[in-house]
Amino acid sequence: MNRVRCLVLNAALGPLDYRVPEGVAAEFGQVVECPLGPRTVVGIVWEAERLPGAEVPAEKLRPLRAALPIPPLSAPLRRLIEWTADYYCAPLASVARMALSSGGALRGPATMTEYRLSGGMPERMTAQREAAIEALDGEQATVRELAGIAGVSEAVLRGLVNHGVLEPVEVDCDRPYPRADPDHAQPDLSAEQQKAADIFTEAVRAKQFAPFLLDGVTGSGKTETYFEPIAEALRLGRQVLVLLPEIALTEAFLTRFEERFGTAPVLWHSALKSTERRRAWRAIAEGGAQVVVGARSALFLPYARLGLVVVDEAHEVSFKQDDGVRYNARDVAVMRGHFERIPVVLASATPALESLAMAENGTYTRVELPRRFGGAQMPSITTIDLTQEKPGRGAWLAEPLIAAIAERLERGEQSLLFLNRRGYAPLTLCRNCGFRFKCPNCSAWLVEHRFSSRLACHHCGHETAPPPTCPECGEPDCLVACGPGVERIADEVAERLPEARVFVATSDTLNSPGRAAQFVAQVEAGAIDVIVGTQLVTKGFHFPELTLVGVVDADLGLEGGDLRAAERTYQQVAQVAGRAGRASKPGEVLIQTRHPDAPVIAALASGDRDGFYEAETEARRMAGAPPFGRWAAIIVSSEEEDEAREAANRIGAARPRHDDMAIYGPAPAPLSLLRGRYRYRLLINAKRSVELQAILRRWLGALHHTAGVRVNVDVDPYSFM
Ligand code: ADP
Ligand code: ZN
Repeated sequence: MNRVRCLVLNAALGPLDYRVPEGVAAEFGQVVECPLGPRTVVGIVWEAERLPGAEVPAEKLRPLRAALPIPPLSAPLRRLIEWTADYYCAPLASVARMALSSGGALRGPATMTEYRLSGGMPERMTAQREAAIEALDGEQATVRELAGIAGVSEAVLRGLVNHGVLEPVEVDCDRPYPRADPDHAQPDLSAEQQKAADIFTEAVRAKQFAPFLLDGVTGSGKTETYFEPIAEALRLGRQVLVLLPEIALTEAFLTRFEERFGTAPVLWHSALKSTERRRAWRAIAEGGAQVVVGARSALFLPYARLGLVVVDEAHEVSFKQDDGVRYNARDVAVMRGHFERIPVVLASATPALESLAMAENGTYTRVELPRRFGGAQMPSITTIDLTQEKPGRGAWLAEPLIAAIAERLERGEQSLLFLNRRGYAPLTLCRNCGFRFKCPNCSAWLVEHRFSSRLACHHCGHETAPPPTCPECGEPDCLVACGPGVERIADEVAERLPEARVFVATSDTLNSPGRAAQFVAQVEAGAIDVIVGTQLVTKGFHFPELTLVGVVDADLGLEGGDLRAAERTYQQVAQVAGRAGRASKPGEVLIQTRHPDAPVIAALASGDRDGFYEAETEARRMAGAPPFGRWAAIIVSSEEEDEAREAANRIGAARPRHDDMAIYGPAPAPLSLLRGRYRYRLLINAKRSVELQAILRRWLGALHHTAGVRVNVDVDPYSFM
């Protein structure tokens, strides 16, 4: 009798056993439909010995309904799913779900109907119809998508379908992607680049696990260099995954990719339409998607023949997922390489201390590009001491910085001002009574956005219009903005240098690939003189005429409770500095600070990267912090404050004792209210020898809480809020 054990995609259920009926293929990894009571759930056939569960007698087993028409998940992917669940203390089902993240794709091949203009005209023309016909020239999509494009209702378009003005086209949902050509346009690599490229290319040929740290200064051509092993993988018929930290960066990447390989790669990110998602998913699983460029969620997809993984800007914090399964894509990428037996390239100009330590101890092979491409020089970096050069009242830019921008304006060059704060002002208060605008759902101030004239919470999205009178004392016109955001800096530039064309670049203004592309085109065409931007503009962009970078407040990142604050400040400032002088004109960087002698600021100014990393490494060693020791956080939350506190205290009281492990808390989280939930945290600091996950599982698994309580574990946390 043929029985199988299934991992079902429901975190509340354990593994379930089924009988395999005649004609159903049920090899390991096969995705199947499992009956569960009156319902059907999706499951994956798994090795029973790796998935302990209750033994059910054979006569009680129900038969599987069907095997879904997709290739089985490979053994290396199954091992990756197990490893991720185990390491991050997450349910297996939640991790497996990330591999099967397109419901439509699981149902097999399909066609769908799209519409396009037929060339005919309706008997009766209306203004709406006329506008729709004009807007839809050259478009082909579903009625709903066309309605979005034309800005009319679906009913208007259905009318046009009935009149034959729009004609249906049957589209294969899984039509193949154009083929990338590894030899489309081969670049001339510098000797250093070639040497690095050869190392990676050789590793792709060797088909062995090989983790690399591509440590190259900004503008050294890391992208050009890792394109070569991608070409080699294409020649060998293997797939490549490139992870990027930000969708806004993909646009520039796509252009370069297309120039090199003759066609765009396959995209994967959360904003894909469901039809695009299903097409990409199936092409990935069948092997037709040669190169996939994506956000961190692309890491768990079922590649048929993966040959190389690249993580670009690998130090970026956005690779850390902070809800659902809390994993770090940079680290899981290396594990994927391990299970698939393929090379993994982590590329960065400012590697994470954890990655550098792995290179130092020989786990990763370090490949260096110490110079910029084409003879461009690294920018000169100077600090402006704000205690000496005080900006005027209500101003944030010191005179030397204003003068430097003015100089660029005269020369027709561009400047970039960096401040990692969206909106106009981080805090708004009443001049009369001191009332401060606070989010009702979070312990956070509302941020004023003048462009959209809203007060917004950056944690939960709560928004309100600024009221004409103070909600507390009723005084009219009494609201004052406290502190600067990028919009306010842009105002200051406009006031001081009225002829400057200023653009604010944040996730509010560059919120789609199209708008990001438009921004790049405008900068390249010289239509923007001064960019004021958040961390979004610190990486990826390459603007030859940009010769000045101003850091508005380098001290900002050093405040607050982030245990990696110094490292992050270093990375952010070094990255944004790296935008200056990338072509033939030399770049200058001015850093505004109240603490020019702070070690991280001094290291930036003197260009002493090694010195900074050494000092920071020593500090981490003393503190037993990563990479020398390990951290984990436990976050307890509930909509009821008492319930959250009691649950956290219960967890605290049950804390295990271990000589090599310290447990701090529970204490209210810095963000003690988030999206309507009260939060408490515990922080664990353990030596590397401690079996942290096993201890956590035993500790937390023995406790049961009321239904409203959520307990989340964050292994290797990046956020301490
Ligand atoms: P990084 O990612 O290391 O900061 P990029 O890969 O963005 O650097 O390269 C910087 C610039 O130099 C880009 O415009 C890139 O096209 C150009 N470049 C780098 N290497 C070459 C090369 N071998 N041939 C032509 N252009 C190159
Ligand atoms: Zn909020």
